[in-house]
Amino acid sequence: MDRYDMHCHLDFAGDGAAAATRAAAHGVGAFSCTVTPRGYEQARAALAGCANVAVGVGLHPWWVADGTCGPADVSRFEEYAACTRFIGEVGLDFAPRREGTFDNQVRAFERALHACADGGKVVSIHAVRAADIVLDVLERLGTCRGNACILHWFSGSGDELHRAVRLGCFFSVGTRMLATRRGRAYARQVPAERLLLETDLPDGPCAALDSDGWLADLALAQALLEDAVGTPLGPTLAATSGALLGF
Ligand code: MN
Repeated sequence: MDRYDMHCHLDFAGDGAAAATRAAAHGVGAFSCTVTPRGYEQARAALAGCANVAVGVGLHPWWVADGTCGPADVSRFEEYAACTRFIGEVGLDFAPRREGTFDNQVRAFERALHACADGGKVVSIHAVRAADIVLDVLERLGTCRGNACILHWFSGSGDELHRAVRLGCFFSVGTRMLATRRGRAYARQVPAERLLLETDLPDGPCAALDSDGWLADLALAQALLEDAVGTPLGPTLAATSGALLGF
């Protein structure tokens, strides 16, 4: 593969497999995250024939916060996590409107990371207004030692960025992050071999994914990233991503 989308949601699209096939024809691989264990079941079935796509088992903080994922779903997540290398999307979202759910989110996130205790996993992590707590949990559980932890669309402080780099985290960056001066500055501060591309597309459930638009957004992310750091990154990004995904 020449290029990888290391955080997308092909299962949000009714025709995710068709988009994956189109991506394969363009030499593009993907780490397709899910947001609930049930979504993972469906995505795994829908994308089973797509050798260029890794499907992550997810326990997204929004779906934990709103009660969609309760204790039974966390247990189901753990069962699936024991059987796959690919975990995501998991994490914490401490936006003010989710106040009152933070303890529940942390408990679910800790259980998700406990499921990675044996190592060897690739973990895509959402952290909104919670980068410090996410890093505390990663550090306390030692998750970054045996696993590849990817912070998706990093939006924490500069100090938190440096702490995450020291912990060994990877960073998936996309056009929306690179549209900001701070996002571009962050990209420059991450070692090149820890950088990855992402689109986070599609934005939500849709009947059909605009495959060309998706692939164009991924290509634009690479161009913006190369512009930000001032050097070509294609082979480095592909090598890092390919090593994580194993294809
Ligand atoms: Mn996402």
